Amino acid sequence: MLKVAINGYGTIGKRVADAISLQDDMQVVGIVKAHPDYMAKIASKKYKIYAPDEKSLKNFGGSDIKVEGTLVNLLDEVEAVVDATPDDVGKLNKPVYEKFKKRAIFQGGEDHELTNLSFNAYANYDEAWGKDYVRVVSCNTTALIRTLFPLTSYGKISVRATLVRRATDPNDHKKGPINSIEPDLKIPSHHGPDVATVIHGLDILTMAVKAPTTLMHVHSVNVKFDKEVKKDDLIENWKKYKRIMFVNGKDEIKSTGQIMEVARETGRPRGDLYEIVLWKDAVAIKGNELFYYQAVHQESDVVPENIDALRSMFQLMDRDSSIEKTDRKLRIGELAYAR
Ligand code: NAD
Repeated sequence: MLKVAINGYGTIGKRVADAISLQDDMQVVGIVKAHPDYMAKIASKKYKIYAPDEKSLKNFGGSDIKVEGTLVNLLDEVEAVVDATPDDVGKLNKPVYEKFKKRAIFQGGEDHELTNLSFNAYANYDEAWGKDYVRVVSCNTTALIRTLFPLTSYGKISVRATLVRRATDPNDHKKGPINSIEPDLKIPSHHGPDVATVIHGLDILTMAVKAPTTLMHVHSVNVKFDKEVKKDDLIENWKKYKRIMFVNGKDEIKSTGQIMEVARETGRPRGDLYEIVLWKDAVAIKGNELFYYQAVHQESDVVPENIDALRSMFQLMDRDSSIEKTDRKLRIGELAYAR
């Protein structure tokens, strides 16, 4: 059993912890929680709690939450860390992991240069093989790679995409916008270059706007091929990848609200949806160009990638076996709404 620490138990950390607990080749030894808040109290029923450092350990003094020690004590007990601390905090933690000779996964809020290895299981599982430090790309980048990687088998492609991003996560009461649409004034947005850190050499440019919603992102994607392609062929190809799920507008699934309702109604933990959701009846071909929309559950799509990254770093099994195992344990592909 691979022994893992979760450093940062927020939106991503708590989901990765539960997903690791469902596997039979890895286990969560403990989680690092910075504050003795309600989430620490809930987590303490499932996991051993550690504080980041001596100062935050004192914060737990007046609470009834049992704390085992600090991050460095936890590091003594594990082989790997999943760092899911807020953007740019991971880079401050890396020297600590290096000092204790622990391998670590970082998330998409860190720069590619922190590890020089950005990861997606479909596209570059083998590149993480035996590596000490890997970065799982962000929710948007993961989503773009999931649906674009299968298209790279058709030869050279050029991608132009517009991302409508959720303003913040549902539990976040501090961030907006709450009544405006906020374009990313840096064009192209950082998402395209981030995709190209994984699908090397891909011609991709992206623009992004933030919208006042918390449920999901929606991408509108345009792909140019250098030859004619058939829509049915592309759809059959996408269907080989369980982390892509189809829905149909004709079934009255016309919005992110309804997609999330599907996840909630079908008993997914927390109502999560690991799959990238593609509207099948809105896939269109005009000449050599493909157009499609996809919806992204930002809180959960990167979770299976963290599991596969651990297996690759520790050389536990090959790409297809790892993906198959992760998918089976997390019930990915089961909803199969419009196969
Ligand atoms: P979050 O704010 O929900 O969770 C981070 C947690 O880390 C919080 O509980 C915070 O209290 C804790 N923390 C802060 N400083 C800490 C420290 N020094 N040591 C230990 N814990 C500390 O953040 P998140 O949304 O889970 O994001 C984590 C990472 O995942 C970021 O890199 C982010 O860009 C990336 N990511 C987020 C999303 C998303 O939609 N939320 C999706 C994909 C990737």
